[in-house]
Amino acid sequence: MRRLFASFLCLLLVSCSVLTPTATPPPRSDPLKTPWEDRSIFKPGLIASEQSVLDELDTASIYHIEFKIADDLYHLTGTEEVRYTNAETVPLNEVRFRLFPNILGGEMMISNLKVSGEPVTPKYELEDSLMAVPFSSPLEPGQSLIIQMEFTVTVPQTLESNYGVLAYADDVLALAHAYPMIAVYDDEGWNAEIPPQSGDVTYADASFYIVHISAPKEVVLVTSGREASRDEAAQVQTLTVASGPARDFYLVASPKYVAVSQTFGEVTIRSFAAKGFEDGAHVALGVASKAIEDFSAHYAPYPYTEFDIVSTPTLALGIEYPGMIAITSRIYDVNNDYRGVPASIYMESTVAHEAGHQWFYNLVGDDQLDDPWLDESLTQFATLQYFSDEHGLNGEEGFRKSLEGRWENVGKADIPIGLPVAAYSGQEYGAIVYGRGPLFFVALRDKMGKEVFDQFIQDYTETLSWDIATPETLKAIAEQHCSCDLTSLFEEWVY
Ligand SMILES: [Zn+2]
Repeated sequence: MRRLFASFLCLLLVSCSVLTPTATPPPRSDPLKTPWEDRSIFKPGLIASEQSVLDELDTASIYHIEFKIADDLYHLTGTEEVRYTNAETVPLNEVRFRLFPNILGGEMMISNLKVSGEPVTPKYELEDSLMAVPFSSPLEPGQSLIIQMEFTVTVPQTLESNYGVLAYADDVLALAHAYPMIAVYDDEGWNAEIPPQSGDVTYADASFYIVHISAPKEVVLVTSGREASRDEAAQVQTLTVASGPARDFYLVASPKYVAVSQTFGEVTIRSFAAKGFEDGAHVALGVASKAIEDFSAHYAPYPYTEFDIVSTPTLALGIEYPGMIAITSRIYDVNNDYRGVPASIYMESTVAHEAGHQWFYNLVGDDQLDDPWLDESLTQFATLQYFSDEHGLNGEEGFRKSLEGRWENVGKADIPIGLPVAAYSGQEYGAIVYGRGPLFFVALRDKMGKEVFDQFIQDYTETLSWDIATPETLKAIAEQHCSCDLTSLFEEWVY
């Protein structure tokens, strides 16, 4: 997520084509009945060099989800069937699902819950945002089972909770974390808590998703992943998408959207905004294309064949999702000012930052609630790198000053960058994790030397792709590369 101010101006010139829908043949069979072992449906969504990952990640959860979006666009019903594999070294007696709408201002109800075909009664915790599903006998390491359920979701029509990540407002349905989502089992056991208002909501393992959506015909649907089939008969449109590996599934729908798109090599970027804001959509697309190219060169190739940018009413400047970013509609009037600054400045820094999360959040995962610096601070550092690469010294200096300015909001206090979101006050969180945090990576680069640092960060990204990073693994990989002890530097900045 991003709340940022950058203190310089740049002009972006992009040429794009208006998106035209392409005809897709009707599905030969029900994609939701795809055998669990068959991962071919995910192949078109991955670039050629990334497709080998489909033969790996044996223990990743596979979700088969059906969303039926009502005509009012804020009620939906759904089904979920998920194959869960015990990837731990200990037997598990249960699996825990997050029901995030229950703490995001909306409501999620579960019914007809079954494990291996047998009805079970779950236990609810954390204000009904956690559902513990018991197993009749322990699930041994490496074993799998199928969990099935039906669910309903009511989407809030306000932006009050967590920046309005889940909301129906201004004719835009932003459907974030709106399916029963398996929590992460890690060294803390089932790791779940109620997310603070100031940070990101989820902490998730990389998974696979086949999602079938039905929605009123007049809305434009944009989702994580890649379209597998589409049917626009009658009054209802249906769409099947395949996405993965990915750490979440996001969907937006709006009758107002127009789109621009452009293909760069294997990757098609699509940018959606309300009619009248095409200039903003073009600027966002141009920034995203440069950011994806830049980060692919520095860290690892962008793994997907599609990247979508959508304008939503969120109160954050931007929010990251797998293969997709949401940018607040407030900065799409790029020919005018926003809060006294050209909106195009906000657009560039926000899109570059959210694009950076494709590497640090989605490709390399982390506990976003306990270790927000591993995704937010590192993404801010990536954004600094973007400005340096795109705009030279002036760009780097301008963005760096904005980081210093953020840290200055708490008088440049030596507050550690490595605390959980909940340990910071609202002001400290922005100042430390988004301001001081990226400056730690600058200090680390100064200490290691640029060449060694670049090799380290590439190795870190590659080694932990589709895995979960921890502060300890980051430090260990850095120390391997510099053949040095970084303890004192980490003590000065992180702990
Ligand atoms: Zn962010």
